[in-house]
Order: sequence, then C-alpha cells, then structure tokens
Amino acid sequence: MLTEQEKDRFSRQINIKDIQESGQENIINSSVIVVGCGGLGSTVIRNLVGAGVGTLHIFDHDVVELSNLPRQFTFNETDLNKSKSLMTKEKLSLVDNNIKIHAYEEKFTGDNIKNLHEIDLIIDCSDNFQTKYFLNSFTSKNNIPLIYGSIAKYTATASLIYHKITGCINCLHPFDKVKNAPSAGDLGTWTPAVSMTASMQASLALEVLAHKDNITKVKNLGKVWSIDLSNGDTSKIKLPKVCKLH
Ligand SMILES: [Zn+2]
Repeated sequence: MLTEQEKDRFSRQINIKDIQESGQENIINSSVIVVGCGGLGSTVIRNLVGAGVGTLHIFDHDVVELSNLPRQFTFNETDLNKSKSLMTKEKLSLVDNNIKIHAYEEKFTGDNIKNLHEIDLIIDCSDNFQTKYFLNSFTSKNNIPLIYGSIAKYTATASLIYHKITGCINCLHPFDKVKNAPSAGDLGTWTPAVSMTASMQASLALEVLAHKDNITKVKNLGKVWSIDLSNGDTSKIKLPKVCKLH
C-alpha cells in the first residue's frame, strides 16, 4: 500500500491509466542496476530516482572530465576529477532520501552484485560495444530484462530486451561485425541525442517495472526505437530472434 505522502509525491504518475497505484507500488519495490553514470546514466538515473524506483545499483569507474560536462547533466565544474558514481549518489540522494542508492567505483562484472535474484532490470548506459555485448550475454544467462541504448551522432536508439521472449542486439548486429566500428565519441555526439536516448531508456524501464508482475503485458517489449534528430525521421522495428543466446 502506498503511504499518503507517496500518493501525493507520485500523483502525476499514478494518474496515468497504465500505471495507477499498483504500478507505482511495483516501481517503488523495484531494484535496478545501471551500468554507467555518464551521458546516458545522468538522465536515466535522474528519471528513475524521480519516479521512485526503490533501489539502484549504479556502476562507473571513471572520474568527471571537462569534456563530459556538455552531456553529463549530473555534474558541474566543481566535480572535475571526482568519482562519477559517488558524485551521482551524493547528489541524487538529495532528491528522495527513501531511495537506496548503492554506488560502485568499478566496472560491472556480474560478480559484484550478491543478490542477483532481487534485480528486476539492468540498464546499459555504457559507451562501448564490449560492455553492451557483455550485458546482452549476461542478462540472457541470468534471465533479467535489459534496456539497451546507443547514440550515433544525431540518432538516438533504445530497445527493451528479454531473451526468453524477444530477440537481442546480437541478433540485430552480431558482435563480430560491430566490434571494430567507430565509437560514439569518434563519430561526434549531438548532446540532445544523448538525453533523448536516455529518456527513451527511462520510459522503457518504468514501463517494465510498473508491469513487472506480468512482463508479457509490456507493449514495447522487443521493439527497437530510433529517432534521427537531424531530420526528425523515426523508426520502430521488431528485434529479430536468430542468435544462439535464445
Ligand atoms: Zn539474440
């Protein structure tokens, strides 16, 4: 049951017919891993904290650099050279003191989370192919939903993967074909495409968490959304299910 304070705090979200009080309770009782506290992580984590996600495990082994500030909205000039994960925890704990934020100044390996069975969702906010494909295999092996996100110059892409039911990024783009492709940083990054990708990821995340008692009801399961901010073109395709992870 939601408290009166929770009903007040989350009233805008509860008023959405697909969420209601039952969906908000599910969101509050959720535990999520976010891999990366940079461009995607800044906006994703702020959305999840605002929406009341009860427990967050956030990973980033980097420190804040000057070239991060245009896109990584958690940080400012006083944070330079400080730990991204610790600064994220420090700042976002001020938004809602009821939310448990566990910050890890290390890479996510899978072994650094003890109670993996309590995790409802993993969100990929990394900026490299190795981590993205590691998370894809890891969530397949451990039967955990995964939100994928990527940016290529002006184009924002996000997808919700649940290997038992849907295809995955390895089905769409086999790792061997992309491992040597230029990174988002090499291609250049349009700042609004980062926050657009992260907002799409946060929306998919809240949809899954609100319906975590029946994930098959999630409308956007297995879809890949893309929007090109240079011309407004959008696309929505269904992930093929063809790789050996399924
Ligand atoms: Zn696959």
